[in-house]
Amino acid sequence: MSPTSPVDSLPDVGVLIAAAGSGDRAGGGEPKQFRTIAGVPMLLRAVRPFAMHPRVRRIVVALPPRFAAEPPPWLATVAGERLLVVEGGATRAASVRAALAALEQGCRIVLVHDAARPFVSLETVDAVIATAAGGVAAVPAVPVSDTLKRADPSTSRIVETVDRTGLWHAQTPQGFPRDMLEEAYRHVEGGDLGSFTDEAAVVEAAGHPVEIVPDQTSNVKLTTAADFALAEAMIGP
Ligand code: C5P
Repeated sequence: MSPTSPVDSLPDVGVLIAAAGSGDRAGGGEPKQFRTIAGVPMLLRAVRPFAMHPRVRRIVVALPPRFAAEPPPWLATVAGERLLVVEGGATRAASVRAALAALEQGCRIVLVHDAARPFVSLETVDAVIATAAGGVAAVPAVPVSDTLKRADPSTSRIVETVDRTGLWHAQTPQGFPRDMLEEAYRHVEGGDLGSFTDEAAVVEAAGHPVEIVPDQTSNVKLTTAADFALAEAMIGP
């Protein structure tokens, strides 16, 4: 194994988990990140691959304020002493910025992961770490395979078929050299953080190149009740 391989370097990776959304599109009354998939809370599933990774030094979970004060006990059970919980913000980017501010200096690489992605593979985590450790921002992504249509919102009539060549679905964990992500957040300070739906967009806005790391379609984001039903089916009995 080479000295720069993701598994045999010092633990220098900080993982920020964006889990501060209200998650009400999934229904059920509780935030979707706490909802169980085959008996295991989605947030626990999202944290687990990082909690087991030898390169990870710290996991900062941004939770809605009422849960940050009293986090679910299973979170500490899975992440142990590496765990830190912070209050999230009004937007996803504000939640990630709060988590980044809580990260100690020893973490020179930062991964940002959606609590709503419970099925990331170790292979993807390693590939993202390797790219970010090389000084380049990394976004795991899958190519768009459906035909894309643009429609008039008032009539639902199709206006055009969009050429899908070169289009990707951006997933997480996205990886960055820490200095780059901090500089990017300073760059967009005072702007509308709500317009950034992922961290790569913040880094792109600051003018840094971002590379795609091919990912698996199984690393889906669960949003609706139907997504949860599909996830249960994916796992099986
Ligand atoms: O709403 P959406 O599904 O795009 O959210 C993606 C991720 O960002 C979710 O895991 C959600 O909990 C998180 N989020 C957050 N803080 C917010 C809004 C969303 O951490 N204010």
